[in-house]
Amino acid sequence: MRIITEIQQMKTEIEKQKNRKRSIGFVPTMGYLHDGHLSLVNMTKKSADVTVMSIFVNPLQFGPGEDFDSYPRDAERDISIAEANGVDILFMPQRENMYPKPMSSSIVVQKGTDVLCGASRPGHFDGVATVVMKLLQIVKPDYAAFGMKDVQQVAVIERLVEDYHLDVMILRGNIVREEDGLAMSSRNVRLKTEERLEASAIYQILNEAANRIREHDFSSPEEAEVFAKERMAEALSAEIDYIECLSFPDLSKQGDFTSGDWILAAAVRYSEVRLIDNILIQEGERSCTEK
Ligand code: AMP
Repeated sequence: MRIITEIQQMKTEIEKQKNRKRSIGFVPTMGYLHDGHLSLVNMTKKSADVTVMSIFVNPLQFGPGEDFDSYPRDAERDISIAEANGVDILFMPQRENMYPKPMSSSIVVQKGTDVLCGASRPGHFDGVATVVMKLLQIVKPDYAAFGMKDVQQVAVIERLVEDYHLDVMILRGNIVREEDGLAMSSRNVRLKTEERLEASAIYQILNEAANRIREHDFSSPEEAEVFAKERMAEALSAEIDYIECLSFPDLSKQGDFTSGDWILAAAVRYSEVRLIDNILIQEGERSCTEK
């Protein structure tokens, strides 16, 4: 595995690979790797000849008072995990490389950010879109994999690719979970013992509500939200940031369950960490048995 920290070196390496007619798969991450990240590596390895992973904790996507400073970091651990799991090139730029001076322009995401994390983290997706655009310019991948754990990020990036005619195919990775159902996240290590124990209820409640959506038990998306909110308020000591049931991928609120895919998504805040999770309810899963 090659480790590259300089942008110019990365571009030269990519050019070399492209000259050899090798396709490039890309997995952008903020590190502190877990099986969720590695499932994306497996996806790109199936689609492309060379897998590039980036590790960069992007300051632009953290708001004031958020956990940029305390975000878990362990470069040595990440290097050995990436190497053991078939990453070919690990790109680990420094902040000074990525942002040598303040940006004179930035990408402002105008659609789909008035809901979910976009509503509670103003500017977050502008920071995400800006760094992803920079990384795509450097790595020039044929495929880039993003996890459905960050479902709004997937929606934003897919639109970015469409809006700017980018020559990359976005691969959506399913959410990888711990045994008890908690969605894997680098931030999970910052949960206190009792918080970690109860946190599996986030998935369990979303799953129960999602199954009831599939069974046509709720007359509206709002009813599903109310159900999940009440159950989570009982089960968790965390503060509930949001629970929203939206059509996907446009992320719009609807009065009724119209056709198409839906997501039921939640964010909760513990003392040191904010967790997100969601469940995708695909059209085919609820098409029959109208009650
Ligand atoms: P992060 O390092 O948290 O920025 O995540 C990097 C990529 O891994 C993003 O595309 C995430 O959506 C994805 N990811 C994070 N956690 C999971 C998970 N539990 N399952 C699948 N993908 C994930």
